Amino acid sequence: LKIIEVFHSIQGEGPSVGRRTLFIRLAKCNLRCTWCDTQYSWEDGYDYSIEDILKEIKKYNVHYVCITGGEPLLQKEEVKKIIEVLSKTKAIKDIEIETNGTIEVSSFVKYKKATISMDIKCPSSGIKNIKKTRYDNLKYLRTKDHVKFVIKDSTDYEFAREVLRKYIIKSEIIFQPVWGINPKWLTEHVLNDQLNVRVQLQTHKYIWGEEKGH
Ligand code: SF4
Repeated sequence: LKIIEVFHSIQGEGPSVGRRTLFIRLAKCNLRCTWCDTQYSWEDGYDYSIEDILKEIKKYNVHYVCITGGEPLLQKEEVKKIIEVLSKTKAIKDIEIETNGTIEVSSFVKYKKATISMDIKCPSSGIKNIKKTRYDNLKYLRTKDHVKFVIKDSTDYEFAREVLRKYIIKSEIIFQPVWGINPKWLTEHVLNDQLNVRVQLQTHKYIWGEEKGH
């Protein structure tokens, strides 16, 4: 398992916002989003074992683990092993897997403790990215999973709205403004268009700004 960092913080995004979390940031990414706030995760990383993860869980007394990146599913088999071990670990109630949506997720929906947070990349992230999204993933996602659009401008907003028109998505949908843009603009669009999505800001950045490790 190649990781970049393991840290204890609160979850800043998704349905578990505010929960104390052990974050496991896996190394490498297959995308290069223009506004990526974790470019340091593109590196090779260092070796880490599941035993090391269990030690951190004990040290911080957490019930919730978030596997993030980079793109964690580039190390799919290792992620499965982590989930299998954590599924049997009493202290752990929930596991979240954050993925950029370019790798299949169907083999992860069998894990009861794990939820999937799948991004659908919008044009502002880089035009090459949007062609890489695996829309076939959407049919596997459950109501407890969620799909996230990070939105920067009107082009992104229109793109996301079009995706919602085109696909049936059972899971919750999150519209998250890119850090630094006025969230009022996005919120008003969602209200005017009566979209059944959740507008969500990145809580950790309101607390710590762009400081690494939160
Ligand atoms: S998918 Fe995530 S880690 Fe990869 S470049 Fe995009 S924002 Fe950064």
